Parts: sequence; structure tokens; C-alpha cells
Amino acid sequence: MELSGKVALVTGAGRGIGAAIARELAEGGAKVVLNYRGSAEAAQTLAAEFEGAIAVQADVATLEGAKALIAACVDRGGLDILVNNAGITDDGLVMRMSDEQWQRVFDVNTTGPFRLIREALPLMARARAGVIVNLVSVAALRGNAGQANYGASKAALIALTRSLAQEMGRRNIRVNAVAPGFIETDMTAALPEKVLQTAQEHIPLRRLGRPDEIAPLVRFLAGPGGSYITGQVLVVDGGLSC
Ligand code: NAD
Repeated sequence: MELSGKVALVTGAGRGIGAAIARELAEGGAKVVLNYRGSAEAAQTLAAEFEGAIAVQADVATLEGAKALIAACVDRGGLDILVNNAGITDDGLVMRMSDEQWQRVFDVNTTGPFRLIREALPLMARARAGVIVNLVSVAALRGNAGQANYGASKAALIALTRSLAQEMGRRNIRVNAVAPGFIETDMTAALPEKVLQTAQEHIPLRRLGRPDEIAPLVRFLAGPGGSYITGQVLVVDGGLSC
């Protein structure tokens, strides 16, 4: 298996896209550290399916959380693959958006990945190898009414991705972003039915995607097939943005 011997950290792996990515990387042979915030049972059940996988509770929006996760990876032998998947929305029109609503989304979606990356880089630089995949969104590329905070937080993560790819390429550390469109998870279940219906009318494939349609791309990027791909934003959206 192409990822055997590798340690992978997936944040927000208790459900949705993160759980699908954790499963896919574990099936590829990686020892996966599944981070969860609240969904202990789901994360532990998934981890129990795979030899070498563990579930670790941490809030990625805190420095202590980031340090605890990196420490859990060091205990398992290092960190080869970091997937910054944990993310939140807190939608509203800019006119009525509070500072807290703006800041909280940035804390989880942008500052969290920044800190994890910063803490992971010494390990990857020492190994002269590493793969980082950041989950962003088409909302960062096109904007989305009601999601200015979310879109901006993910656009910042794209800029972080591209800058980091330039900084770390010579150390053989590859950094890419995956931008899903509308995927069936708890995140989109929270959207009004009308929004989902309108979205589907604009998606050439005429349906929402599934988490297991995002995860194989992350596995590909993490493995030998992705060895010359860095600094890219790969869109998986059923054609929505084409
Ligand atoms: P989800 O809400 O189903 O799952 C997100 C996971 O992140 C949850 O398990 C949650 O507990 C975890 N999480 C949130 N805050 C956390 C924190 N502070 N610390 C640790 N874990 C935390 O969402 P999803 O749809 O699976 O989204 C996964 C990623 O994909 C997110 O970054 C999201 O922005 C992105 N994305 C999703 C869609 C979509 O349509 N579902 C579209 C574009 C991008």
C-alpha cells in the first residue's frame, strides 16, 4: 500500500469529509491520527477499524490543541501527511455580522491550520519530506452571499497554501488545497432547502457530492501520484465553478 509507514493527521475527522479522508488514508496504509472536537464515539469507532489509528480530542482553534495533536503524531513516529480539514461556518450578511462571528470562523478555519502547519514543519523539514492538504471551498474562489467570513477565511488559507508551497518546496514538502463545492454533510444539512435546490440547478452534474468523492483526491495528493503537484487548488464541485 502506497502510504504504509506514513503517519497522517486529519483534523475534524469525527464525521463528514474528514471521516472519509481518514478512512481513505488508513485504507492506503497510513497510521492515522483522527482529531475530533465533540464526536468522540464516531471518531473512536472509526479509529478502531484500522490498525495503528487513534482518535485524539483537541480544539484546533487553540495553540494547546495544535501542540497536543503534533505530540500525538510524534508518539507514533513523526508526521508525514497533515490534512487541515476541520472547519466551521457561521453565516450571516456582512451588515449584521458581529466581530465574534468573523473572528471565530477565522480562528478555526485559518489560524488553526496556520498553527498546525507551523508546528508540523520542523518534523517535515527534518525528514525532508511532507505533504500538507488544506480543505478550502469554492466559496473562497467565487464568494457566496451570507458567507463573507467563511469565504474570506478559506481565501486566506489558499494564500497560505501557495506561499508555503514556495517556501517549503526545496525541502520536498508539498502543499495543496482541495476546494469542494456542495457536499452532503452536516455542514450543508444546515443550509435552507431552497439554497440547496438552487445550488443543484447550477451544478452541471445536478447533485451534491459525497464525502467519498473528495477523499480519494486527498489520498492521491498524499501518495506517489502527487509527487510533482504543489501550490495548487484542486476544485471538486460537480462542475459548479466551470
Ligand atoms: P462538518 O461540519 O460535517 O465536519 C467538520 C468537522 O470539523 C466536525 O467533525 C467538527 O467537529 C470539526 N471541527 C469543527 N471545529 C473544530 C475545532 N475547533 N477543532 C477540531 N475539530 C473541529 O463539515 P464538512 O462538510 O465535513 O467539512 C469539512 C471541511 O470541508 C471543512 O473545512 C469545510 O469548510 C470544507 N468544505 C465543506 C463543504 C461542504 O459542502 N460540506 C464545501 C466546501 C468546503
